[in-house]
Amino acid sequence: MELVKVGESTYYISNRTNIGVFKLNDKDVCLIDTGNDEDAGKKILKILNEENLNVKYIINTHSHADHIGGNKIIKKRCDCEILASDVEKCFINNPLFEPTFLYGSKIFRELDNKFLRANESDCQSLKEINGLEYISLKGHSYNMIGVKTKDNVYFLGDALVSEETINKYHLFFLYDVREYLNTLDYLETLEGKFYIPAHTQVVANLFPLININRNKIKEICDVILNICDGKNIDNIVKEVFTFYQLKMNCNQYFLVSSTIKAYLTYLLEEEKIKYEFINNEMLWFKIN
Ligand SMILES: [Zn+2]
Repeated sequence: MELVKVGESTYYISNRTNIGVFKLNDKDVCLIDTGNDEDAGKKILKILNEENLNVKYIINTHSHADHIGGNKIIKKRCDCEILASDVEKCFINNPLFEPTFLYGSKIFRELDNKFLRANESDCQSLKEINGLEYISLKGHSYNMIGVKTKDNVYFLGDALVSEETINKYHLFFLYDVREYLNTLDYLETLEGKFYIPAHTQVVANLFPLININRNKIKEICDVILNICDGKNIDNIVKEVFTFYQLKMNCNQYFLVSSTIKAYLTYLLEEEKIKYEFINNEMLWFKIN
């Protein structure tokens, strides 16, 4: 891990979750996301320490555990402010909400793990920071944001999934399919110098990645449409997994079920599917 310069005041640390670093002055920085866990936080602090840099703010693009895992240790060491958009802020302050949201009720022990439940951190509402601009990137999560720096570099959180991940897993987590597609359209209008998605390399041209993401969503819509011949949600999830030859585990099951439900909402709103209760079972049908 090292500090990579991408603009006069804009840097990033390449990691499993890329970390944005914006220099506010000679000694203070604003971080964009903090990585998977406390270890990631410690590595970030070490790199900044070597450059005599102190963290004044952390902006979290959204509340998922792999973006906020270093919050607690960094705040403890630097006494920084942690900022996030509405709703995401509530999840960051109450990390139990994330697995609870996925499961839909009180969780059981196996769902209480660091991939779903981050350490809690004391997060405030977004505020103006000189040199930074917030952009709305809804879809992947309820109220995700991106950050544009004055150097015309965009940090995009999880608004785009890498080609490798899409080819390997096909399904990626979504909360709102329509908003995700709207966000892809919006990304096409940007004229940034560099774009930094959280889990893939920096790019100067976003179009190829936008198309890959959009095409996969359309493909998944078609896959689900073909499965909706009177199946319940669990069976739709199973068929989608089988179609893509994926293997289920507990975290995967709840992440993918939640995502498939987002697709069902979208297809229902598009009047491409309907549901019926037959023998006390909620079954989904394609509308021909
Ligand atoms: Zn995420």
